[in-house]
Amino acid sequence: MSLDRISEPLPQSISLNVSSSCNLGCAYCYAGRGGFAGVQPRPMAWDVARAAIDRLLAVAEPGAPVTIGFLGGEPFANRKLIHEAVAYATASGGRLGLDVRFSVTTNGTLLRAPDLPLLRRHPFAVTVSLDGSAEVQDAQRPRHRGGGAGRAWLIEWRRCWRSQEKRSSPRARQ
Ligand code: SF4
Repeated sequence: MSLDRISEPLPQSISLNVSSSCNLGCAYCYAGRGGFAGVQPRPMAWDVARAAIDRLLAVAEPGAPVTIGFLGGEPFANRKLIHEAVAYATASGGRLGLDVRFSVTTNGTLLRAPDLPLLRRHPFAVTVSLDGSAEVQDAQRPRHRGGGAGRAWLIEWRRCWRSQEKRSSPRARQ
């Protein structure tokens, strides 16, 4: 059979490279902290993200999950776009009867309390990159502007999870 008779499958998932920057400066970064050596000088604009989502939802097969992934740089450097894209894709996919899911790969240091309900209330696969202890993290993945990120990472995560626990505990709601 010649190759031109093999039909190309339609996409069932996309990865949106939403951020062109990162707050860390990992020694091994392949992405130039999101800028890819100047190839991606600006974060993704909303009209680009929306067009990509529209195109995916228009061709996705209804019987299988549809996945929209968020990458960077550090994707939460473009937090507003992630929140908008999730709301938009959830509503649009719902109207089309599609099972829309999400994924994000993050260094975890820019997560803020309002992000946790987003990740919990939607079908999200969350990958957090962490190299090891706070000391290892500080050595290999310093903040871009100087200083370690390891201890800050732990403090931020504790703060976020505690604020969520308080909100969701029955006692806190009384
Ligand atoms: S967290 Fe990721 S994007 Fe940011 S500097 Fe490290 S490897 Fe690069």
